[in-house]
Amino acid sequence: MARVYNFSAGPAVLPEEVLKEAAAEMLDYNGTGMSVMEMSHRSKAYQQIIDDAEKDLRELMNIPDNYKVLFLQGGASQQFAMIPMNLMKNKKAAYIITGQWAKKAYQEAQKYGDAKAVASSADKTFSYIPDCSDLDIDDDTDYVYICENNTIYGTKYKELPNTKGKILVSDVSSCFLSEPVDVTKYGVIYGGVQKNIGPAGVVIVIIREDLITEDVLPGTPTMLQYKTHADNGSMYNTPPCYGIYICGKVFKWIKKQGGLEAMKERNEKKAKILYDFLDSSKLFKGTVVPKDRSLMNVPFVTGNEELDAKFVKEAKEAGFENLKGHRTVGGMRASIYNAMPIEGVEKLVEFMKKFEAENM
Ligand SMILES: *Cc1c(COP(=O)(O)O)cnc(C)c1O
Repeated sequence: MARVYNFSAGPAVLPEEVLKEAAAEMLDYNGTGMSVMEMSHRSKAYQQIIDDAEKDLRELMNIPDNYKVLFLQGGASQQFAMIPMNLMKNKKAAYIITGQWAKKAYQEAQKYGDAKAVASSADKTFSYIPDCSDLDIDDDTDYVYICENNTIYGTKYKELPNTKGKILVSDVSSCFLSEPVDVTKYGVIYGGVQKNIGPAGVVIVIIREDLITEDVLPGTPTMLQYKTHADNGSMYNTPPCYGIYICGKVFKWIKKQGGLEAMKERNEKKAKILYDFLDSSKLFKGTVVPKDRSLMNVPFVTGNEELDAKFVKEAKEAGFENLKGHRTVGGMRASIYNAMPIEGVEKLVEFMKKFEAENM
């Protein structure tokens, strides 16, 4: 069995330990004689799995009691609609456009009310985070929306926007559990889990309790109301059982690594190896303004499309998978999520040095 170094942006690398544990439990979970996939979500064994997952996540992120944790379906993209449907009481929201995911959320919100783009970095291909210290936010704005780590463009907010007292809603899909966060600064934190936590399809929503109400936009389907899921412990209907079980294992794995402080330290160390090389290389260069660089997604280019393609091809042959940049931006991108070991990044940089020597 040969495992590759998988730099995919998502679905992405998971901790090997977690995959091995899941494999060992595939036919018989904890003496139940069945796989978690085959188990009733109303069983005692499954209730324990989802309860433990929530408890461990709360512990990891230090989530206050007045926030609910919901395990939902539909991926991150479903939240693009759920957020306005549930939160647009005045039908007004402010969006900060830092890339494709923020833009998609913004466009979706326009279906439900007056979604206003209050800042954008589109002028420089989303290579930076705009100044958000004094945004034009109306008094009756329901919330301010950000995409905190921009998976495609490789930028990350190092400081949260000044929302002028409005609720902050944040898509953290690609930086979930990569470093400590102060949950109290947000109204809603949500993310698809397939970047840093588990299998695609699960989305985790951490939402302040007072934002969960019956006062939603007319016609909002039952399944798209936060209240439905909050009132039923994320089990109004059959949840994505197996995905939640894997998320729970990843939470335990992160706890074992030392929690979010330790993840941050490790992630900074990994990213530094790659960024330091990019800053010193004569062939490769990073595409993001240094102060806004993501710890998770690192886009880079050679400046020559043919050479980029050659690099991606030769890297693949050498066991470094999924380094091709997003189809809309080209170049390369190395996603170095929590589960990417330091050796993976060190070996990638070694390979890049060799490629540079051969192609300069
Ligand atoms: C991948 C991604 C999404 C979309 O996730 P889906 O689960 O495919 O809907 C949304 N936002 C960000 C920041 C992402 O990285």
